[in-house]
Amino acid sequence: MPGGVSSPVRSMKSVGGKPLIIERAEGAMIEDIDGTRYIDYCMSFGPLILGHAHQEVVEALLVQVKNGVSYGTSNPMEIELAEEIVTAHPAMDWVRFVNSGTEAVMSAIRLARGTTGRTKIVKFEGTYHGHADSMLVRAGSGLVTFGLSSSAGIPTGVSNDTIVLQLGNEEALKEAFALYGEDIAAVIIEGVPANNGLLIQTKEFMHLIQELCRKHGALFILDELITGFRLGLGGATAHYGLMPDIVTLGKIIGGGLPVGVYGGRAELMNKIAPLGSVYQAGTLSGNPLAMVAGLKTIRILKENPQTYEILERRATYLLGTIRGIMEEAGFPCSSKQIASIVWPFFQEPSEAKRPDQVSAEAVQTYSQVHQLALKNGVYLPPSAFEVSFLSTAHTESVLQETVNAFEKVVSLL
Ligand SMILES: *Cc1c(COP(=O)(O)O)cnc(C)c1O
Repeated sequence: MPGGVSSPVRSMKSVGGKPLIIERAEGAMIEDIDGTRYIDYCMSFGPLILGHAHQEVVEALLVQVKNGVSYGTSNPMEIELAEEIVTAHPAMDWVRFVNSGTEAVMSAIRLARGTTGRTKIVKFEGTYHGHADSMLVRAGSGLVTFGLSSSAGIPTGVSNDTIVLQLGNEEALKEAFALYGEDIAAVIIEGVPANNGLLIQTKEFMHLIQELCRKHGALFILDELITGFRLGLGGATAHYGLMPDIVTLGKIIGGGLPVGVYGGRAELMNKIAPLGSVYQAGTLSGNPLAMVAGLKTIRILKENPQTYEILERRATYLLGTIRGIMEEAGFPCSSKQIASIVWPFFQEPSEAKRPDQVSAEAVQTYSQVHQLALKNGVYLPPSAFEVSFLSTAHTESVLQETVNAFEKVVSLL
């Protein structure tokens, strides 16, 4: 296995470590093959809002396993989950389940191209939308540039069809539409960019994207892989009062099992096969296990609406306390938070809205903090640019344990 891992960031290369090999997990804890336990703030990169091995989710899964794990047909659980999703997300009349976020975004882009008959896609530097060819591009040096591929193996024809803009730059966005408006099939942005640090955008910027898309006949794709059911039941769509044309979801809606979904208005979604000419399929799509885990997770969130408030309050407490400890010891610390997503970064407080606003020293400090935290029983996400997630299993006593560990970490810096 390249790097000993099934996904690159797990190698811990960027924080100077070795891959963790985790054998079991429960609540906020993960345990490696040597029996060492850590408080987990990576939480599988976001899906586990109820913590690891949540009892009700596990029980629902066990029942389903005995009833068969895949039918290759429709099943009632996917219908129920689809209903929960379209109820929470007014922008989606219909949904199609897939097996990962990458697949959801890839399919959303195909749908946008298939319905508009246009080829160009606008994305922003410092957002992540999975590893489909057209999304693995970074910006060149101009205001409006065609993407340079950020991976080997991307045909220039593909990267040339992706326009990469600076996050938060309204002028660049307007210019891109002025220059290429008639060729732009879609603009895609994360609900809240959270894959390159937490780069919270203004409501105005999000609405400008939507407005320019409408004006030029392009589709607005909101990638809610992280924000869906994380910012609240309605995700970033509700948070910013948006009405995207296509929404992509994953992570939480699978309760920790592999899943993705894309959806939009009925007249768009009926372009998908078998009704329309945009082809997209999947052997294990709508898999009963993923559907059951996601359905149980979403129902628990729905039945306990106070969950989001509690999570946010705990996240604010943790981030503020960590920042206080760092500052008291003479280290700069900036912090970003939305709902239960937190991102401390170790430089003077600033309004980071773009990836280039994070200093190399901050990245360096993060590596040190990461290694020391690990030695003191806390697993932070394995890159300075990955955000931390709280779950309902991060109780006040777990947070206190984290703070105690962090005091030790800072004394060793
Ligand atoms: C995680 C993520 C993806 C990719 O999802 P996978 O299931 O890892 O393929 C896409 N977009 C965003 C915003 C994500 O956070």
